[in-house]
This record gives sequence, structure tokens and C-alpha cells, in this order.
Amino acid sequence: MPGKIRFAPSPTGYLHEGHLLSALYVWAAAKKWDLKIHLRIEDHDRSRARPAYIEGIREDLAWLGFHYDSESIQSARNDIYEAALKKLEAKSLIYPCYCSRKQLLAENPQSETGEIVYQGKCFYKTRDKRRETREDLNSAPHNLRFIVPDKFIDWHDMRLGDFHENPKHQCGDFTIRDRDNQWTYQFAVCVDDIDEGITHIVRGEDIRNSTARQIALMEALGHTDRPLYLHHPLIVDSNNKKLSKRELAHSLRQDREAGVTPEKLFGRVCYKAHLTENDAPITLMDAISTIIRIL
Ligand SMILES: [Zn+2]
Repeated sequence: MPGKIRFAPSPTGYLHEGHLLSALYVWAAAKKWDLKIHLRIEDHDRSRARPAYIEGIREDLAWLGFHYDSESIQSARNDIYEAALKKLEAKSLIYPCYCSRKQLLAENPQSETGEIVYQGKCFYKTRDKRRETREDLNSAPHNLRFIVPDKFIDWHDMRLGDFHENPKHQCGDFTIRDRDNQWTYQFAVCVDDIDEGITHIVRGEDIRNSTARQIALMEALGHTDRPLYLHHPLIVDSNNKKLSKRELAHSLRQDREAGVTPEKLFGRVCYKAHLTENDAPITLMDAISTIIRIL
């Protein structure tokens, strides 16, 4: 069986330079390791996803010359997420959390990265309640949290090396479905990676922190074939800072409408990612070859 990699943008805007760099890494990895490419449209956040952006992803990828083997969209996969939730419930690994955002901030410490590390207040609160009381509680709006095992997870990144992390210290028990009944990114992505047979995960460094908790969740779902991970550097501005929201709001589509060619975009993005010496236009194949050399 050949391996499979995914490119997984969220349709909350049009594709920008950050997506383009990620796509180049994904397609380079696919070529290097002979992987099938899966496009996953991550529209789990229904309040922010827009049909125009979904169509925009497909159009922009076609215009740029990125071809893929299969496609899925999260909003069509509710049954699969429900089934995964049942699996966790059967193992008593889920509990409702009634804390407001304000309470979460006031009552829990934050990690070095500024994340709330949930201390399990609602776990202790609901654990000893009588059954009737719990059912009363269940009718109020609540998040569903996954009980993270309190253990260190050793995992390897093909670019960054070895990590030894305990999700209980990074984030604590985390939300898999929010109070609006929306599946969270962390949950949907794990269920999809298992269900879609993803063997290689290549994505931006900004998501690296999520890896240990995703491994914990995949293991709780009974998935032991851990994917291979590679987190690539992000595009930075001339001061080595992460691109601002405004810069990221500038879409590839705006460039395209202004007459910019894909080659010019590949050249610009590779230069901004410090992959090339200058921003001269290059072909998709050249951009991919450049990345293959450093994988
Ligand atoms: Zn709570």
C-alpha cells in the first residue's frame, strides 16, 4: 500500500502565501516518498467557513498546478465523528465541561505558549454526582472534553528531531466538541487522519504543539500506526517575524487577478521562506525540487 499525505486548508478565507508554502512542502514530500495526495477541506468551524472559499481552494490549486488523488470535506463526515465520539464515551474518556471562557481564564494556569492548561474542574465536579444530576447538567450548553492520559509522549519530527511532551501539562483535558456542537480542529483532524489512512503529516511549525495531544487522542481511538511528522518553517517578514493577519489576508487570488503568474508566486514564496537566494520566478517543479533537497 502506498502512503498518503494530506493538504488540509480551512475555507475561512482565500489561500494565501502561507498555504502556498505548505502546499509546496506537501507536494515535495509526496514526490520524495511516493505518496498519494489527499485534499481535506477543514470546514469544521461552520461559523467561519464559506462556500466561496471552498470553491476558491479547488480553483486556486488547479490554477497553480497542484493535482491531488482524492478529496474530502469535514462537514460531510458528521457520522464518522459521532462514531469516534461513541468509542471514546464507551471507554469513559469524555466528560462535559460547563466552564465559561472567563472561568477558564481565571481558574487555570497557562503554559509557556500561552495556552490554558485545563485543570479538570468539571471532571471532578461531575464524577461524583448522582446520575439524575448529571443528566440535568447535560442539558446545559457544554463542551465535551477528552481525558488526556497523564504521561509523556515521545515522538519524532523528521526536521526538528525528538520531542518528549506531556499533553496534560501542555493543555490538560481538551475540547473535542464545543458548546455549539461543533467538532474541534483537534478532534476532527485525528479522526480524519485515522479514517483517511494518512501516513505522513507535513504541516507548519505553528501546529507542532498539537502533535503530542493528537497522538494521545489517536491512541485512545485505537490507532497505533502513528503517522510520520514533519513541521516546516513558516514564512516570515523581513524582520523575521510571523506574517501579520493583514499580510496573510492578501490572497493568491488577488495576485492572480492582478496578472501575477504562478511562477512568480513560487519564486516569491520560496525566497520568503529562505529556500532560494532571490525571488526570481521559478516553475512548480523547481520549487518542489528545491524543497526535496532539504527534506
Ligand atoms: Zn469545566
